[in-house]
Amino acid sequence: MPTDVLITGAGPVGLTMAIELARFGLSVRIVDRNAARTDKSKALVVWSRSLELFDRSGVGEHLLAAGQRCTAANLMSGDKTLAHITFEGVDSSHPYALMIPQSETERILEEHLRTLGVQVERSTELTAFAQSETSVASSLLSAGGTTETLETAWLIACDGAHSTVRHQLNLPFEGDTLPSQWVLADVHLHGLPNPNELHIFLHEAGVLAIFSIGPVEDGRARVIANTGTVSPGEITPEPTLADVQAILDQRGIGGVTASDPVWLANFTINERKIPNYRVNRIFLAGDAAHIHSPAGGQGMNTGIQDACNLAWKLAVVHRKLCAAADLLLDSYSAERSPVAEQVLSGTGKLTSLATMHNPALLALRNTAVKLALGFPPARNAMANELTELAVHYPKSPLNGDASTVHDTPEPGYRVPLHTGDLPIGAGDTPRFALYAHPGADADQFIACFPELLEPTPRPPLTPGTLTLVRPDGYVAFTGDTNAYPHADAYMVNLIYGPKQKVTLES
Ligand SMILES: Cc1cc2nc3c(=O)[nH]c(=O)nc-3n(C[C@H](O)[C@H](O)[C@H](O)COP(=O)(O)OP(=O)(O)OC[C@H]3O[C@@H](n4cnc5c(N)ncnc54)[C@H](O)[C@@H]3O)c2cc1C
Repeated sequence: MPTDVLITGAGPVGLTMAIELARFGLSVRIVDRNAARTDKSKALVVWSRSLELFDRSGVGEHLLAAGQRCTAANLMSGDKTLAHITFEGVDSSHPYALMIPQSETERILEEHLRTLGVQVERSTELTAFAQSETSVASSLLSAGGTTETLETAWLIACDGAHSTVRHQLNLPFEGDTLPSQWVLADVHLHGLPNPNELHIFLHEAGVLAIFSIGPVEDGRARVIANTGTVSPGEITPEPTLADVQAILDQRGIGGVTASDPVWLANFTINERKIPNYRVNRIFLAGDAAHIHSPAGGQGMNTGIQDACNLAWKLAVVHRKLCAAADLLLDSYSAERSPVAEQVLSGTGKLTSLATMHNPALLALRNTAVKLALGFPPARNAMANELTELAVHYPKSPLNGDASTVHDTPEPGYRVPLHTGDLPIGAGDTPRFALYAHPGADADQFIACFPELLEPTPRPPLTPGTLTLVRPDGYVAFTGDTNAYPHADAYMVNLIYGPKQKVTLES
């Protein structure tokens, strides 16, 4: 069997990519140079939007069973609450953050991938590759020292911040390394009130963030704090439990004791991204394409959503369900690169706010945070940003018309799903959903595009409208019920490309 896609890197992004492509029927190989999965807790939060997307493959329920639901974040100054941001009001079937160590997320994704017949090939490193018009030839070095040359139609680099693919393609990784030094502690905490909520303490000495890991009764938590500045290349001693306790005592609520450390480390923050995520038959996703401050816990989630964005497009193209390959494949970078830019800017601002030192500005900051987040709309906006439900693609080349005056989401915006709704894009074929009044018009429209549309319409989003929604849940086209000719033009344009009818290959 020829392999359609090679994925390098079996972190959360590579595993998600492999699950999505395998369930859409592409033959996939996924390799990782490491002999084993990470045992580190790293990214702890899976946000609502990622959970919605995981529901499409069925892996979401396994993650939910293994994680803890967190419903709020608190911005604190000592024992004073500056803002309480609840996730319970967000318009999602998952109105919470799921707290789960990255090691567990990867275990669950890998197990799910195995049920789709794909096994991660470990101790196998991509060392070189070359692409032609029709394929990519990759050299895979196994632990035994043998090298295999694998030819695939596509190569997807999910090989992390030090991406081999990015280096070998000489892609600019534009951005900065910040001078601030941070401590990360995976410890057990005793005496923390409301341990099932996130806590961020703003203090003149710096910021302190506390997140629970695992069942609250275990008391395991992640502590993150900035500790000063470092010069490039400077090596600083690893933090100790005593250092962590001192930070908790100085910046926290008091009376919280740390014990039994699992992982203590220093880290610095890089804020970088590549400009374009596609180089012909090669795509980059996740940390290979963008890295940012952990403030806001967006890194892994942004990568997971890269994977969900690319996979359905690649499946549609590879299965020859559309002839205008470049429109779909180029839209991946056109949509996801601005999202990473927004994450970089947002987390960068949060980091600067958290690490400011000027005493006059510090007092102002706390007052401004309290005032700004005193208003429910501002708190709701922050909850939507954090949960990544606010991610949308208003400038996407895939956006069709919005000729309706009704109150439906515009092209590029997400359609909220509610508990019990069948996720759009579930199953073994990436299909668009038609939200419209049932009847002959809807049936006739669906019959024109049977391979790309769900077989039955869903109820209209608002009476009198029809809306086409992409397999990843974003609006493609919306109009009044008489807009079927425009919807038809949208699908024809998607399949055949702008104004050029070509014959689909069999
Ligand atoms: C301390 C810490 C805390 C974090 N907290 C959060 C958080 O709260 N929320 C959040 O969203 N994100 C967080 N992140 C970021 C998150 O961990 C990363 O964004 C995430 O791991 C990126 O996933 P990835 O799959 O893109 O890359 P990785 O997880 O880095 O996986 C890349 C894989 O590629 C493999 N690889 C590399 N080169 C090759 C090659 N040539 N051949 C074969 N295999 C190769 C590597 O072995 C690795 O397994 C945190 C990160 C750290 C370090």
